Amino acid sequence: MADAYILGIETSCDDTAAAVVRSGEEIVSNVVFSQIPTHQPYGGVVPELASREHLRAIVPVVRKALADAAKTYQSIDAVAVTQGPGLAGALLVGISYAKALAFALDKPLIAVNHLEGHIHAVLLEERQKGNHQVNFPLLALVVSGGHTHLYLAEQRGEGWSYEKVGRTRDDAAGEAFDKVAKLLGLGYPGGPVIDRLSPHGDPTAVKFPPSQIKHRDRREYGKQIERTVGGKDRPRFDFSYSGIKTAVLRYVELHNLRPAIEARGKALAGKARTGIDEYLSVCDKQTLDLVASFQRAMVEDLVAKTLLAVRAYGDAAMEGVPVYFPSRPLSTDNAAMIAAAAYPKFLAQDLASLDFSAEAGLALRGA
Ligand code: ZN
Repeated sequence: MADAYILGIETSCDDTAAAVVRSGEEIVSNVVFSQIPTHQPYGGVVPELASREHLRAIVPVVRKALADAAKTYQSIDAVAVTQGPGLAGALLVGISYAKALAFALDKPLIAVNHLEGHIHAVLLEERQKGNHQVNFPLLALVVSGGHTHLYLAEQRGEGWSYEKVGRTRDDAAGEAFDKVAKLLGLGYPGGPVIDRLSPHGDPTAVKFPPSQIKHRDRREYGKQIERTVGGKDRPRFDFSYSGIKTAVLRYVELHNLRPAIEARGKALAGKARTGIDEYLSVCDKQTLDLVASFQRAMVEDLVAKTLLAVRAYGDAAMEGVPVYFPSRPLSTDNAAMIAAAAYPKFLAQDLASLDFSAEAGLALRGA
């Protein structure tokens, strides 16, 4: 089959992104316009501002993705766009634009689930490296500010099917990072700051007992049985991160860290892209130890549950199970992953009709 060049468009949250990917295996262009500076003063993503920024950015971002790929609007083979999950108003900007483009150019339109995109980011990069073997049943951990999911993914014919075997019961992992960073006066977004500060603290200094990162029903991990539609019982591996946030808050109160946090918040206020040295100059050892211990507890919990799920669903031995990570540019929201996830749908002619709409809570299921 001839090569297919798919234009991907992604506007589900605070990144306006467009990319051209060849046949699900080569990134030809990948443009991401981040709105972080717009949302930073508000300490989180403001949905109305996100929609407005997408409207401003969508045309130049798509134009740049095509230019970088040395492609014209006419020379692409299909348009793919994120349908959900995400912010409804933000999704609609991408969807309306993609529909108009597909209609005007008379090109196929493909709707993609954002979470499926994240899974295909990994597959895309492996294929780009020449590894075409990642198509056996695989366990995918999707972690972000809005999501913490474990999927069992499997290729069936051209398409992929997904079974959700775990999710967060309350806060997403990235949300916990954002909330803890805010609580400690470190600003938004929390993940990058905490990650950069962590190596400067002692990750074993503060102990977070497993009970603080365990979900409410207190049953043992992996023993959480949920009856699926098919009537079969499958073990589940759910996450819960509201407890650890409360534990950090308790630590703050117990050790009287409030005055230092307020001073830090004031020192960092209004400064976009503050350098690591500036953060370090306003963090004492106790705070750095707390940050490092928090990150370690979060990562250990994510890894431990993922490995338990591998053991429950894999038929291979635990040792020697290959692990694949996306590179940093493909770890955050981007449109290359949307164009890559669209490729199997393009082959299967699983196209969207022009009347489909945004689904803020779209679930990821089978093909
Ligand atoms: Zn995402």
